[in-house]
Amino acid sequence: MSTTPVKNALPNKDRMKIARQHMIEQDPSARARNFLEVNQGFTPELATCESTRCIACPKPTCMLGCPVSIKVRDFIDLVFAGDYLGAAAKIREDNVLPAVTGRVCPQEDQCEGGCVLGKKGSPLAIGHLERFVADYEQSTGQVGLPPIAPATGKRVAIVGSGPAGLSCAGDLIQRGHEVHVFEALHELGGVLIYGIPEFRLPKTIVRQEIDNMRKMGVKFETNVVIGKTVTIDELFEKEGFTAVFVATGAGLPQFLGVPGEHLNGVYSANEFLTRTNLMRAYRFPEFDEPIYDCKDKDVCVVGGGNTAMDAVRTSLRLGARNAYLVYRRSDKEMPARAEEVKHAREEGIQFMTLTNPVEFIGDENGWVKAARCQKMELGEPDASGRRRPVPVAGSEFVLPVNVAVIAVGTSANPLVQSTTPGLATNKKGYIQADAETLRTSKKGVFAGGDIVTGAATVILAMGAGRKAAAAIQDYLTSGQW
Ligand SMILES: Cc1cc2nc3c(=O)[nH]c(=O)nc-3n(C[C@H](O)[C@H](O)[C@H](O)COP(=O)(O)OP(=O)(O)OC[C@H]3O[C@@H](n4cnc5c(N)ncnc54)[C@H](O)[C@@H]3O)c2cc1C
Repeated sequence: MSTTPVKNALPNKDRMKIARQHMIEQDPSARARNFLEVNQGFTPELATCESTRCIACPKPTCMLGCPVSIKVRDFIDLVFAGDYLGAAAKIREDNVLPAVTGRVCPQEDQCEGGCVLGKKGSPLAIGHLERFVADYEQSTGQVGLPPIAPATGKRVAIVGSGPAGLSCAGDLIQRGHEVHVFEALHELGGVLIYGIPEFRLPKTIVRQEIDNMRKMGVKFETNVVIGKTVTIDELFEKEGFTAVFVATGAGLPQFLGVPGEHLNGVYSANEFLTRTNLMRAYRFPEFDEPIYDCKDKDVCVVGGGNTAMDAVRTSLRLGARNAYLVYRRSDKEMPARAEEVKHAREEGIQFMTLTNPVEFIGDENGWVKAARCQKMELGEPDASGRRRPVPVAGSEFVLPVNVAVIAVGTSANPLVQSTTPGLATNKKGYIQADAETLRTSKKGVFAGGDIVTGAATVILAMGAGRKAAAAIQDYLTSGQW
């Protein structure tokens, strides 16, 4: 490890001539049929070369794009100097899950979206470098865990172990509080474990990051459904917690509301991915979980976000003959990460954009056998700012499918809200929380992540977790509500 800073002596105009380095990837034809990680990471040589491209802007706009304010320039300087452990420790000052965010953040909209290099060419591969140093750190076993303040004796409960809950727990434990994370499922990690597939985010990575938090002193309890096993009021009154952070996500699947959606073979993406990832259906019979019979079948996934992309690529890996992505807008409006769309195309996913299912048709045994679809065109922008899809008259056609997966969004699970008197929600059922302090209408209760914003991103949920931790710290020290 280097202790003296090594400066990049290359003039900026020469740095800008270096091409963005590409991460090594599994070959598309091989990876389309296995669950191993697609991206293989940077080598130290690739990382050094990529870090050389940074032009060290005096006002780094990359940092402004990061919801948890990672000190991007500082960590890139450390990569350039070959101090990978120092670089990882620098990221950990603001982000407890660097190996995760390096893999799944929509960097093109965040840090890399703000990179000046992107104005005339390709932005710095900040996400790839973040992943590289986080993986390097894990491989050495020398994780630079931050120092923990002396015990305050205050107890904080966190409901949900997704990125919002984990990030809040990571900050509060450093302040010396006793932090308990309660998780309804038998595995920790939220969407990182049950939603995002192994080929994009290996579960060992998530487990390692959670183990680091355990080492910092965070206490985790699985199979505890808050609102059923114990209520929020009981956490205060019987368990002696002073503050509670609700980070329960938005895991309730939405459907299209079209005829035939009840047929056998039509699933929510949530169920499809949870069975495959969390219950390891893809390793049947080693894991005794019924597998979806996608082998040599025609599968359509409806939607255009990360969830849709994960489901359709999963179906291919489960052996689908044809894997269709049916999306009612065009490529341009697709909300999925750019890299996932590129990978999906390379793997042979058949994109049917400007297309919408209007009915699922069943066979005599009640199994789906086709989707009646309609072509769409783009009209005026709607409330989301994206152009509204409008049906094209007389354009209906029938697409034979044996499996259909609906990935058109999720909403709030109502359990905590309905069992916590005095907790205000909006008309969609999400918890209302102050934008700055994340305080809810109920004393001592804070909320953040998808349960407040609706389905968003890992890093935004982590940003909310950090904000909540700062506000909880204020509350615990001042006692003022
Ligand atoms: C398939 C899929 C792919 C995605 N891909 C990406 C991506 O590539 N990049 C990206 O940035 N974002 C992605 N997202 C979005 C991102 O994962 C979410 O925005 C993020 O996980 C939200 O974090 P959270 O902590 O608010 O909630 P979650 O991750 O949903 O975690 C909430 C946790 O709370 C638990 N819980 C719920 N109710 C209770 C209760 N009553 N008691 C105890 N525990 C409870 C849940 O079991 C869950 O573990 C994806 C989402 C999905 C579904």
